[in-house]
Amino acid sequence: MILINGAELAEEILQEIRQEVEILVANGKRRPHLAAVLVGNNPASLSYVTNKVKSCETAGFRSSLIKRDENCTEQELISLIEELNNDPEIDGFIVQLPLPRHIDADNILLKIDPKKDVDGFHPLNFGRMAQGLPAFLPATPSGILQMLERYKIETDGKHCVVIGRSNIVGNPMSILMARKAYPGNCTVTIVHSRTSNLKDLVKQADIIIAAIGIPKFVTSDMVKEGAIVIDVGINRVADASTKSGFRLVGDVDFEHVAPKASFITPVPKGVGPMTVCALMINTLKSAKSEIY
Ligand code: NAD
Repeated sequence: MILINGAELAEEILQEIRQEVEILVANGKRRPHLAAVLVGNNPASLSYVTNKVKSCETAGFRSSLIKRDENCTEQELISLIEELNNDPEIDGFIVQLPLPRHIDADNILLKIDPKKDVDGFHPLNFGRMAQGLPAFLPATPSGILQMLERYKIETDGKHCVVIGRSNIVGNPMSILMARKAYPGNCTVTIVHSRTSNLKDLVKQADIIIAAIGIPKFVTSDMVKEGAIVIDVGINRVADASTKSGFRLVGDVDFEHVAPKASFITPVPKGVGPMTVCALMINTLKSAKSEIY
């Protein structure tokens, strides 16, 4: 079994980005600049955004963290997005999800200029991705593609089962794994909460990508010997032995699945850091006008 070290790989890629940025700056270009908008006080969101800002430092980017309190109205948030859309100093920005309930997240994401949508959530980027056109790829699926590529994992002709059909992970992941490219060229099955024979289907997978949000959902009896297992889940479970009172676990029962897998990602230090890394890749692409 090979453990895919997402944290180490992300650090390596961030250093490569940094080198490229320093060359850009030495040639008189502006440093890439990512802004992150955080609404409210969700501790998990704060920790994600803080990681993104830290990664900007490592990559040699400028970053701006823009905080708004829980009571921020949808219109106020839209006005902020319009400002960011029109700010020539900003290459890309993200609005950290989830948003407070009184704000319609779908509507907010539609207001982001697709040219600055480095999270790749705007329908225009989604559509371009689906058609194989240049697009900002959604960060988590894009980070997973990077992992597969850097670990030289063969995907051609493999059966990939994606568990979960969210717009930010499962759905785009299934499209990318089926695309005519490497990594890709898989036969893809997407399973979800209404799938009747989920266990049987997952058991047939050469590659399992779990994005459900249920701790240890994928158990060893669902996994074929030698399967490649990518665990996207980040779930907080109570743990009195830690300072914070919780620990993070994935959607895969790592302890029992790992001995059967040929490659597996841990949680934490697996897909999480690669997601942030993919966001940096998109921001650099935006600064270099590579997509639009
Ligand atoms: P989501 O809640 O939007 O979607 C979950 C999906 O799982 C749904 O499509 C649903 O159909 C499916 N599902 C739910 N219960 C199921 C069941 N019993 N059987 C089969 N399918 C079921 O979640 P999401 O945003 O895609 O996130 C999934 C997980 O990944 C969460 O733990 C989230 O925290 C994590 N996540 C991690 C990263 C990262 O960078 N590592 C990024 C995004 C999300």
